[in-house]
Amino acid sequence: MLYTHATIITVDQTRRVISDGALLVHDDKIVDVGKTTELTTKYPEEAQYDLSNHIVMPGMVSTHMHCVQSILRGIAEDRDLISWMCDRIWVAQGNITPPEAYAAARLSMAEMLKGGTTCFIESLWAERYGFDGLVKAVDESGIRGCLGKVVMDRRADQPEFRNRMHHGLVEDRQSLANAVQMHDKWHGSSDGRVQVWFGARTPGGVTTELLTEMSSIAREKGIRITMHCLEEKADRDVFDQDFKKGPMQYCEEIGLLGDRTVLIHMVWLEDDDIHRLATTRTHIAHCPSSNMKLGSGFCPVPKLLDNNVNVGIGCDGAPCSNTLDLFQEMSLAAKLQKGLHLNPKLLPAETMIEMATIKGAEAVGLVDKIGSLEIGKQADFIGIKVENLHQVPTYDPVSTVVHATNARDVKLVVVNGKVTVENGQLTTMDEAEVIREGIKAGKAVLSRANLADDIHGSWPLE
Ligand SMILES: [Zn+2]
Repeated sequence: MLYTHATIITVDQTRRVISDGALLVHDDKIVDVGKTTELTTKYPEEAQYDLSNHIVMPGMVSTHMHCVQSILRGIAEDRDLISWMCDRIWVAQGNITPPEAYAAARLSMAEMLKGGTTCFIESLWAERYGFDGLVKAVDESGIRGCLGKVVMDRRADQPEFRNRMHHGLVEDRQSLANAVQMHDKWHGSSDGRVQVWFGARTPGGVTTELLTEMSSIAREKGIRITMHCLEEKADRDVFDQDFKKGPMQYCEEIGLLGDRTVLIHMVWLEDDDIHRLATTRTHIAHCPSSNMKLGSGFCPVPKLLDNNVNVGIGCDGAPCSNTLDLFQEMSLAAKLQKGLHLNPKLLPAETMIEMATIKGAEAVGLVDKIGSLEIGKQADFIGIKVENLHQVPTYDPVSTVVHATNARDVKLVVVNGKVTVENGQLTTMDEAEVIREGIKAGKAVLSRANLADDIHGSWPLE
């Protein structure tokens, strides 16, 4: 298929933007990219797909996500992180059954795909949710998923733990063996769209012994790791108190850092941490909405980028960012740094697109396959309609995408050469059914967790 007449933001080596461009896709691969006039002349027999008034760019990579949380959207508003987790989110998650987790995963994937996210990292999929259901949802939806299976062993459900976890979520060291088993069973399935990762809980939720063993297996088998870290200030204190060393010194010494690891949030960083992240080529997942809404702080993204640390962008789960709209995250990430540092030159739109595409692809270890529109890469791309009131006129397509576009402007989504969204509608899932099942699952979980009566705003609802 020859996709024609689009403005193409390629994110290739020279960062070409092609006006009236065309993209030739055969099976799952990009075969050619160039001007429409050139490609229609070169391939006269090829069927054409007109994308006039569209911007085409690589599918976006969300480097941090919790699929199960989409059915818990809005259940823990205006709370600090500990209360958000311990009183609401973990209580609900500790009551979720596999069919409900599957419904949540479908809701998440439908929202991501419709909003132009074609690849994501799931960071903490618990044993109780049923891993096979998550894989099934990836397979059916057509999205690309890097699925972090939880690794933890500390019994954090005891009263002495500051972050007391609901007993329904507590796992022991068997979690590592379970994750390896799921990796061996599913990694590379669905034409390579399913990747299986280790989703380690933070140090404090995992013993040094298990984190070391996990890191060693990860190196041996080439399994990638994702882990929340330094989200709020108290997370930094854990390293000082329990390990008597800096956070990244600890992580480096146990073999956790490296180019197969994506650390999430990383708000409370010091210079020594940044130096170690750079030398080990460890990746960062930046989630601006989540960090701001939970009052966690500001990840020093400009400083990380200046030190050549790779930073991707993510939405985090629906109870903290509320929507899975990566356009919103791109715009917000740029604006917050400009405001914080009184410097409008920080994080230009070009950098934001890189973070959402090629840098995300680097973080998930797929930069040779996705993240840019180049000959030989997998055909993962999106078409954004740009003749809406909030976008016109479009003088600079890169700025339009970052600061004047939202998830609802995405009209076409192609993953691995297959159309998953067309004319703004999902082609792989029945949207009405996904919504119905998501609402049903959410209500059932809140009722079972005895939270149903507690979830309301502060204004009287009649
Ligand atoms: Zn998270």
